[in-house]
Amino acid sequence: MDKGRVAIIGGSLGGLFAANLLHRAGWRVDVYERVSEELAERGAGVVTHPELFDILALIGIDDARIGVEVASRLTLSREGEVVGEHPHPQVLTAWGRLYALLRAALPSEHYHNGKQMVGLVQDGEGVVVDFADGSQAAADLLVAADGIRSTVRQLLAPEVQPQYAGYVAWRGLVDESALSPATHGRLFGHFGFCLPPREQMLGYPVAGAGNAMEAGSRRYNFVWYRPADEAEVLRMSTDNAGRVHAKGIPPPLISDAVLAEIRTVAGTSLSPQFAEVVARTSQPFFQPIYDLESPRLAFGRVALLGDAAFVARPHCGMGVTKAAGDALALAGWLDRLPSAAALAAYSDERVAYGSRIVAHARHLGAYMQAQLANEHEMRMAELYRTPAAVMRETAVPPRFGQEPG
Ligand SMILES: Cc1cc2nc3c(=O)[nH]c(=O)nc-3n(C[C@H](O)[C@H](O)[C@H](O)COP(=O)(O)OP(=O)(O)OC[C@H]3O[C@@H](n4cnc5c(N)ncnc54)[C@H](O)[C@@H]3O)c2cc1C
Repeated sequence: MDKGRVAIIGGSLGGLFAANLLHRAGWRVDVYERVSEELAERGAGVVTHPELFDILALIGIDDARIGVEVASRLTLSREGEVVGEHPHPQVLTAWGRLYALLRAALPSEHYHNGKQMVGLVQDGEGVVVDFADGSQAAADLLVAADGIRSTVRQLLAPEVQPQYAGYVAWRGLVDESALSPATHGRLFGHFGFCLPPREQMLGYPVAGAGNAMEAGSRRYNFVWYRPADEAEVLRMSTDNAGRVHAKGIPPPLISDAVLAEIRTVAGTSLSPQFAEVVARTSQPFFQPIYDLESPRLAFGRVALLGDAAFVARPHCGMGVTKAAGDALALAGWLDRLPSAAALAAYSDERVAYGSRIVAHARHLGAYMQAQLANEHEMRMAELYRTPAAVMRETAVPPRFGQEPG
């Protein structure tokens, strides 16, 4: 049954979840992605949760193909000794693997590269989208899955802006074959942590280049949170030629001095195993950490979804699962109600959910902030700094209602 046409802006994971679910529900979908070629591997690991597998199964993607399983978590001291363990089986995957599976699940005629959305007009009949190449597309509904700097959101709710959290995440992937046997033996098979003062290092194995899953061709993914005020982020965003990349420095342009510095700090503040991971990662990169909260997600015929709607700090590892959950909720409401009422119900449900995840992740990250704003943040920083609390709470879906207010 043809239910109508949906234009989806943004062809990353959020857009692909929405496209796949709405396509299967009988909508005519078109995904418009500004990047001209296939989206490249973004070199980032992703933790999974049971809800994510449930939604992938609805799209016909079975869980055996998704990632690498670990049995437990451990925390290493600065000296490299195990100072805490926590059983927690979990499947770890990579952005590129999920993208490849979701992209292959959507018939390719519904995905359009090189389409940068620059404007939109909506009325009682539908939505018309303008692209930078001068073309237009018409649809009954529009889904904005265009990320934290969403063009759609900036047109419809310009007051909603990302708030810098006061720390960055250094990230990277290293081939397992590049690690020494001692480090490989200690780190592979676990979700690992190291907790220097005011910092947090974590890492886990993921699929290798080209999504290889065989032992010997996988990679190790790390995320290292470090406080940095805004002036420090600008310094780190200055390339070898002295140019400042205020909107984010592309990884290959990070200066030799900043890379040398991070490797030196890794050697002095992390366990020897994690210092080796950083030293042997050929292209570490950093991302400033933000909070973003939209008070509503429905604007007439337009719905915000994924990072365009809410961005929680990565400590719950919920970004991809939340984007998938947004897509499922939107498809579900559109199945039950006429479009306008469905978008309003979707907004109510996912604003409540997104706000709670953002608040919980903010508490988990308070310990890393360059500055703590108030007494509540100080209390949360103390609450979530021990190895036991970090291993219990990180990269697990929040259990709402069990946290001090
Ligand atoms: C340090 C860090 C660690 C993380 N770890 C995890 C983790 O372990 N687990 C997890 O689930 N999540 C994690 N995340 C979050 C996760 O990456 C995102 O939440 C998730 O990818 C959902 O993104 P999205 O599809 O909504 O947006 P994005 O991935 O940002 O995609 C937006 C897309 O829209 C396109 N676009 C933008 N503007 C336009 C336009 N005008 N026209 C057309 N196209 C446009 C962009 O090119 C892009 O492809 C992490 C994030 C960070 C920063």
